[in-house]
Amino acid sequence: MARRAKSSGLRLRRRAADRPHHHRPWLIPLAAGGGVLVVLAAAAAAVLLFTPGPPPPTLTQARPMMPSSSLQTSDGIETTGSVDGSLVPTGSVDVEVPDAVGKSVATAETLLRAAGFTTVTRVDTRANPGVAADTVFAQEPSAGSLAEAGAVVTITYSPRDGAATAQPVVLIDPGHQTKPDLTPEPLGPGSTQTKEKVKGGATGVVTHVPEYQRALQISLKLRDKLQAAGIRVVMVRTIDDVSIANSQRAIMGNKAGASLAVRVHLDSNADSRVRGFSTLYPSGNTWVKPIEEPSKRAAQLVQAAAVRATGAADRGLFGRADMTGFNWSKVPTIIVECAFMSNPADDAWSADPANQDKLAAGIASGVLEYLGR
Ligand SMILES: [Zn+2]
Repeated sequence: MARRAKSSGLRLRRRAADRPHHHRPWLIPLAAGGGVLVVLAAAAAAVLLFTPGPPPPTLTQARPMMPSSSLQTSDGIETTGSVDGSLVPTGSVDVEVPDAVGKSVATAETLLRAAGFTTVTRVDTRANPGVAADTVFAQEPSAGSLAEAGAVVTITYSPRDGAATAQPVVLIDPGHQTKPDLTPEPLGPGSTQTKEKVKGGATGVVTHVPEYQRALQISLKLRDKLQAAGIRVVMVRTIDDVSIANSQRAIMGNKAGASLAVRVHLDSNADSRVRGFSTLYPSGNTWVKPIEEPSKRAAQLVQAAAVRATGAADRGLFGRADMTGFNWSKVPTIIVECAFMSNPADDAWSADPANQDKLAAGIASGVLEYLGR
């Protein structure tokens, strides 16, 4: 998407730049005007090359239903200029830029064309809370400023309604905590069967780092990447020394109205040769029935993206009915088992911040896919 946008941006600029000014017959008599014209031409060039604030929204050609004439830069404008006496040799070629903000894209394009400007339409696909769909919410140069007739006015709109693009919430639960809490809690709502509130977790066979530390390191990187993509993140913990039962962690996701809860863990096995990345999802009991299908879809996307990003051995998906943190969840939830701390190579690999970054990037990209971002 971004790649295509960039190339059409280049195409647009090149098309405009390809046309030397002396091909505009009405500019020749003006040449006597000297300095003014140079300034105006420079201003027009500046407008043409202008790229508003970071990060640049997607630049596209006019939407298919828009008249293609809005992109036929010089030709259309010169015609307008000679028809309208104000643009012929004697007068100023500066025109006041009309206000396009708040208008529909079609109306804005018509308005700007009538005023003698070339319209470039930008689509901003990021979440724009409060911005109505297909309505211009930014323009450059701004309304009321003076620009040379024929100059490019860039208008930006969002294809989605602001209400529909409200930030989704993702809960991140870095597994475990400094001190395990082995007191029992119900395995699911109303269950007589119990399980420890928070188990101890694994320890790195070569690094001797506890799982709760590494899980938090990866989780914080995951948080940063999701936030950078416009996702609201709720963290179960950002320090190690907490006391939060697994049922409570699930309830935090319910209360946050999370679109997905991602529980970050590292694995361990009696066989130190076992290594790789796997994803668990809730399955096989009545508690998790309502969230099983979307959780499994999230698990599939995250597993694929993480394996792709890291090159880790793909251990696949595991449906689980025995996890308190799943059974109390009303929102889709998964556990990523990022590496085996019982495997020397996996332990050392997952201790490296660069590899943690790859893990976080892969998980984030799967989560974003799941969210349709
Ligand atoms: Zn764990």
